[in-house]
Amino acid sequence: MASIGFIGLGRMGHGMAGRYLDAGFDVAVWNRSKAKADDLISRGARWANSPADAAFGADAIVTMVADDEASDAVWLGKDGAVETAQAKTLAIECSTVSYQHALDMARELRERGLAYIDCPVTGLPQAAAEGKLTLLVGAEPADLKRAEPFLKPISSAIRHFGVIGNGTIFKLINNLMGAQQIAGLAEGLAIAEQAGLNMTMVADALATGAVASPQVIRHSKRMVARDFSGASFTATLRHKDAAYAVALAESLLSEPPSVGRAAVEVYVRAKAYAPDDDEGKLVEIVSRPK
Ligand code: NAP
Repeated sequence: MASIGFIGLGRMGHGMAGRYLDAGFDVAVWNRSKAKADDLISRGARWANSPADAAFGADAIVTMVADDEASDAVWLGKDGAVETAQAKTLAIECSTVSYQHALDMARELRERGLAYIDCPVTGLPQAAAEGKLTLLVGAEPADLKRAEPFLKPISSAIRHFGVIGNGTIFKLINNLMGAQQIAGLAEGLAIAEQAGLNMTMVADALATGAVASPQVIRHSKRMVARDFSGASFTATLRHKDAAYAVALAESLLSEPPSVGRAAVEVYVRAKAYAPDDDEGKLVEIVSRPK
């Protein structure tokens, strides 16, 4: 039975770890706060006392934590996964991290003999629990081939963008564009509301018209109804992704990424207002009347 050390049991990681249990893997789990592991333990996972303990004897280590700092902590920090990981173990980083972090981590882990797979994902927590994520991969082809048995249980599509870091580049532009669309939607709705339009009609028309991206479809009716239940993607996480994307843009482009910076600005406010709520709540800030 192949073994997985799974680290990070938040909204996404919890469902992903469950997929490995369902697929018959031998799973060790670690999360900073243990309570999130309880039902996985009752389903057969072994509780690991540290990331190092989760990595001990694992064929693959999968991490799904918040950001660069969390990734650093679980791989390289005290009792981090590298302390026990065996040479040639697959190190599959599914967290959305910055581009520079992905490169630095790949180098650090390669120096310790591990094979790094840059593997951020798209899909909401429900897709994670159902094994229907899209994986955005940057990896050496031979490493990716070896990793496939560990990627299939959590995904319905694997997109290989090329070398390490390319998966993260795609993920960051994808989430920056999502931030721009959601912030733009909130402003459009705010204008229509203050002008007194019928908001049911507005939401319907937006969700079926020329600007109806999946983000607009997902958020328009919820924003109009001020329904932020079932928080899936928080303002804090979106702000992080947009800020990482803008930093990448600033390293590549001669023109300042002004639309990206504007989206980051909106999410700075959204994060200060309701950090752990669904990101759609930013409509409450931008819709305040004059
Ligand atoms: P989440 O529910 O906020 O979970 C974050 C996880 O990171 C938790 O396990 C948390 O531990 C851990 N963590 C945070 N700081 C840490 C630290 N310093 N040391 C160790 N562990 C730390 O987030 P999520 O929604 O599962 O997202 C996880 C990752 O997937 C993020 O990179 C996010 O951008 C990405 N993502 C999310 C979605 C989505 O729809 N939610 C979709 C695609 C990608 P505790 O439980 O102890 O706090």
